[in-house]
Amino acid sequence: MNADLHLNAAATEISGAQPQWARAEAQAIYDLPFNDLLFRAQTVHRQNFDPNRVQLSRLLSIKTGGCPEDCGYCSQSSRHESGLKASKLMEVQRVLAEAKKAKDAGATRYCMGAAWRSPKERDMDAVVAMIEGVKDLGMETCMTLGMLDLGQAQRLKEAGLDYYNHNIDTSERYYNEIITTRTFADRLDTLANVRDSGIKVCCGGIVGMGEEKTDRVDMLMTLANLPEHPDSVPINMLIPIEGTPLGEADPIEPIEFVRTIALARIMMPKSHVRLSAGRTAMSDEMQALCFFAGANSIFVGDTLLTAENPGEDKDTALFRRLGIQPMERDAQ
Ligand code: SF4
Repeated sequence: MNADLHLNAAATEISGAQPQWARAEAQAIYDLPFNDLLFRAQTVHRQNFDPNRVQLSRLLSIKTGGCPEDCGYCSQSSRHESGLKASKLMEVQRVLAEAKKAKDAGATRYCMGAAWRSPKERDMDAVVAMIEGVKDLGMETCMTLGMLDLGQAQRLKEAGLDYYNHNIDTSERYYNEIITTRTFADRLDTLANVRDSGIKVCCGGIVGMGEEKTDRVDMLMTLANLPEHPDSVPINMLIPIEGTPLGEADPIEPIEFVRTIALARIMMPKSHVRLSAGRTAMSDEMQALCFFAGANSIFVGDTLLTAENPGEDKDTALFRRLGIQPMERDAQ
């Protein structure tokens, strides 16, 4: 495909349904000359968002480590020797105190993550109380608790949950290289349960896990061809962690990472594309390129679930230099 791709004619629209992306089309966009790709992504971005606003979320691990799953990138799997100490589910009052601090520091969305295959019945009351408490603070709520059946998703929705994060991680083809304890189809089932219960979907993946660029394109195609685009699309850059199967993975070439962000922006124009894990390994210039390519959401705070994140001071300084403002809650 040529560099003069039409901005609005990239996906095939079927009688008013969501446009379906074809593989060749998506790959051709990913492979555009870099300046053409960025121009196009920035144009789509401006059609849908204020280009100088970035949404801020805060993430808290409410139950760390000891997870029975075998995700090859994760320090929280009990199958890997990462040295991470497992903890029990955090008490509700402690979670709410942390959420209050995050709100005072400017976060508008509070994301709570537990290292589970799926939530157990005995944990549901506490999880529901956390959602209700964070909502009472006036923040949006997001959770990531592993696989959900429809009944669990409905219960979380009734408690007021706004978003549920469940990543597909990579392409269907490469998936088995990364995780064997649950299937790609299992992931899609959970996403359907979340969607059907009326909770907004947060779903993305990780790049830099040794995948081919075609896997990155396929991963984004799976997301863009869901019945509805995820509201948030986190794109993580692998942080190799010693003791995990991907602890020695070679870093992804930064330009390839920016291309992935740009393609996500173009294929899912109204989604918040989140620059997630891996920002500590990115230069300010690389982050700036990601924002230009259409990323408009980040996690703030010193840590993600267990990994490092640039502190607030560093982010504030970068935002000041780039003229970026935090997104108001109403604009999210
Ligand atoms: S990514 Fe989630 S499900 Fe996979 S091992 Fe880590 S905590 Fe468990």
